[in-house]
Amino acid sequence: MESRANHRILLGGALLCAAALAFAWTGGPSAAESPQGNQSAPAAAIAKLPVASGARLAGDGKQTRFILDLDRKIEFRAFPLGDPYRVVVDIPQVDFQLDAGIGATGRGLVKAFRYGLVMPGGSRIVFDLTGPAKIANSYVLDAANGQPPRLVLDLEEVDRASFVQSLASQNRPELKPAIADANAAVAATETTPAALPPADPRPLIVIDPGHGGIDNGTQSGEQLEKTLVLAFGLALRDRVEQSGKYRVVMTRTDDTFIPLNDRVKIARTQGAALFVSIHADALPRREGDAQGATIYTLSDKASDAEAERLADAENKADAIGGVNLTDEPTEVADILIDLAQRETKAFSNRFARLLMKEMKTTVRMHKNPLKSAGFRVLKAPDVPSVLVELGYVSNKGDLEHLVSESWRNKTVGSMAEAIDAFFAKRMATAGPAN
Ligand code: ZN
Repeated sequence: MESRANHRILLGGALLCAAALAFAWTGGPSAAESPQGNQSAPAAAIAKLPVASGARLAGDGKQTRFILDLDRKIEFRAFPLGDPYRVVVDIPQVDFQLDAGIGATGRGLVKAFRYGLVMPGGSRIVFDLTGPAKIANSYVLDAANGQPPRLVLDLEEVDRASFVQSLASQNRPELKPAIADANAAVAATETTPAALPPADPRPLIVIDPGHGGIDNGTQSGEQLEKTLVLAFGLALRDRVEQSGKYRVVMTRTDDTFIPLNDRVKIARTQGAALFVSIHADALPRREGDAQGATIYTLSDKASDAEAERLADAENKADAIGGVNLTDEPTEVADILIDLAQRETKAFSNRFARLLMKEMKTTVRMHKNPLKSAGFRVLKAPDVPSVLVELGYVSNKGDLEHLVSESWRNKTVGSMAEAIDAFFAKRMATAGPAN
C-alpha cells in the first residue's frame, strides 16, 4: 500500500541515520570487519556482531566491579543518571550470549542490571544502583593470560551531593541525539515539497506496541510482553490496512527501545486521528490472580489503585531504558487535562467504550474493563488515545490466549470493528477526522 511504502522509506532513512550515528561514535566498523559482499544475509550480519559471553559483579557496597567478557575490544561510553540512581553503558550492537536471568539480582552497589538493543546498531547496559555512586574507572582490556577481552566498570559509593555534581559535569552522550536526529531526518523529508507524498485524506492511526529493546515489559517464563505486543500490533496493522480506509503508522516494527515521549511525538507530528497503545499486564503473585483485557484512557486521577499501580509501572519504561528523565522536554508531560483537551478526552472515551463493546463479544474482559490513569504515553493533547492491556501474562488462561494466533486474530478483528465504528461516527458528526 502506498502509504505504508512511504512510511517505510521514511523510517528506513531514520534507521540508517541512527545506525550511522551509532557507528560514528564507536568509530565505525573497521574495513576488515565490514561485511563484504552479501550484507543482507542476516546470519552473516549477526556473525559480525561482537559477542558478550559472560558478565559478573564483584565487590561490596563501597566498591563494586562489573566485568563483561567479549570476543573483541569495543568502544563504549559510561555515564550516571539520577532519580532513580542508574549507570548507563552504551556500546555498539552486541550479540548478548549471557545466562538467562543474569542481572536480575545484583551485588554491592548494583541492585540489578539489564541489557539489550536500544537503537539500531546500538546496545546498552543499564545498572540500577542501591544509592548514589560514581564511575571510578572504566576501560576495555585486551585478551591476556587466557582471559578474553573484557569491559570493566568500577563503581564507588559517593554522597548525593557529589553524585548530583557529577551529573552536572557529565558531557554524556544520550539516546536522544540519535533519535532527535532520526526525527529531524523524518521531518526534513516530510517538509521537502518534492518528497511529500500526495495528500492522503484517510485518517491516520498510530499503533504503539509497548516496550521493546532493552525494556522487556512484564514477563512470564520465556514470554516477554514486548514480543507479544509487537506481534499483536503488527497483526492489528495488517487487519486495519486491509480495508484501505486508513493509514497506519507503527511506533516500532522491531525489537527496538522507543522512549515514551517519542511515541507521543510520532502521533502528534504525523497528525494521527487515533493512537492505540498495546500492552500486557502482570500481577505480582502475592496480589492474587486477575484476568482479562482492560482498556485505559488518560486521567489525572487514577480510577482505582490497580490502575495507578499499572500507570506507574508503564511510566517506568524510560527509566528502564536509561533515558535521562531530567532532560525530558516537559511540553507534553506537564500538559494539564484542561479545557483544550476536553474534546480529545471525549473522543478517547468514546473509542474506549466502542472498543469494550466490540471486544467483549470475542475476548475475555477484566471484571472492571474501563479504567483511567496518568499514562505518559496517552498525553497527546490533540490525539484521541487509549492503552489496551490485552490480558495478564501472570494468568495461565490469559497467557495461553496471548500466545495463540487464533485468539490474536479474533481480538484484532474486534478492534478493527471498533475502529470502523469510531470513524464512521466521527465522519458523520464531526466532518473529516482530522
Ligand atoms: Zn506494558
